[in-house]
Amino acid sequence: MMMMDSFRLLCMVSIGIHSPEFPNETLSPSWDLHQAISRELTNLPNVTIHYIKAHQDRTTSNAELSTEAKLNIEADKLAEEAYSSSTFADQVPLIPGVSAQLSINGKTIVSKHRVIARDIRRTKAIKLRIQEQTGMTDQALEEVDWDSHTMAVGRSQLSQPFLVKMLHQILPVGMLIHRYDPVKYTIDCPTCREHSETYDHLFQCCHPSRAGWKSQLKATLIKFTDDTNSHHLLQDILVTGIHNWINGLPFPTNQYPPDWHELIDSQSQIGWKQLLLGRFSVKWLEYQAQHLRINKIPFTNVNHGPVWLSTLIIRIWNHCYTLWESRNKDKHGHDTETKRAVLLAQVQRRMAVMYELKNRCFPSDRLKWFHSTLDEHITKEPHLYQQQAWLETYEPMIRRTIHDRDRVIQQRLHTIDEYFPPLPVGTADR
Ligand SMILES: [Zn+2]
Repeated sequence: MMMMDSFRLLCMVSIGIHSPEFPNETLSPSWDLHQAISRELTNLPNVTIHYIKAHQDRTTSNAELSTEAKLNIEADKLAEEAYSSSTFADQVPLIPGVSAQLSINGKTIVSKHRVIARDIRRTKAIKLRIQEQTGMTDQALEEVDWDSHTMAVGRSQLSQPFLVKMLHQILPVGMLIHRYDPVKYTIDCPTCREHSETYDHLFQCCHPSRAGWKSQLKATLIKFTDDTNSHHLLQDILVTGIHNWINGLPFPTNQYPPDWHELIDSQSQIGWKQLLLGRFSVKWLEYQAQHLRINKIPFTNVNHGPVWLSTLIIRIWNHCYTLWESRNKDKHGHDTETKRAVLLAQVQRRMAVMYELKNRCFPSDRLKWFHSTLDEHITKEPHLYQQQAWLETYEPMIRRTIHDRDRVIQQRLHTIDEYFPPLPVGTADR
């Protein structure tokens, strides 16, 4: 007698072994297993297969479970442990009856062959870009656990535009947008106003108002690793790695036992900043699985493997989004009054640039368009709507007249103003 908890597999093997009608049929998920089981069954006389419902312990107490259900649960546990061991999970042995299998970067592809092959070709270009941006070596790039990273991207509830910009370090921080329009966008950090807002400064700003974000992130990391039975040193390396990078400190490798240096060195190669971007070394998974095995902690759906790591990454990204929202409130204002103050400052910066161009306008235009000084202008027209209206009307005209005047000077022509100087304001029609 044989028992299976997969009804689909039971149906497949019940049909028995047959030659594939089309070659592509062999690409169906776990086809190699189906044919191998079917082949073995033909050599075993009088075998009956029964279906047993999986995971019955989730709804029924252990005492009430049948022997078959208990055996099924035990088999699941053993399979999970075997799958978590590093070499077995990546490389599937060639099963009798299978002529070929697809293997990419030492990992056997057992399902979705076409999709995975296409994804790998596409992600290769993205990885090269990341390498250029971060300076990661080939080895460091290989040591990143991309499976967990990709899973986190797929599972994250954050908006994709934000996620893509954050992961590729193109969030519109001061340093980036200042290049587009130096007058409209200031380069400085909107929170501390002391430093240029580079991408790293976004996370490393040491203004007191950012302390809450940092402590909340730390609390989340501690809670997550506690809840998932992570080793206390794994927790400590995680918290210290992120904390020290945020504070511009080197990682204190020598404070940890030599057994842990393999993990620390691997993450150091990748970069501690990369933890915030979800790029963890594969060693994190290995150390966690080893810790669970040695301490006989049961493997669950959430305490190991890519599900464990991708959940951690998602929690970190959620904090990054909170930080970005907080920074945006500092940048653009958090209520009507502060938003108006930010807009007013932006308008007055643009007006200041126009006043710097005043002497390059034709003399007659200077008198018509400008006050004596910017301060006088702001005093006489203090409201935001007045200043915005002035800019909308005169900014294009000022730029146009400077362009015309420069052309006149280049052609060595004399303007009418030079022959007939303009009269003071009030003595002629404007
Ligand atoms: Zn700052």
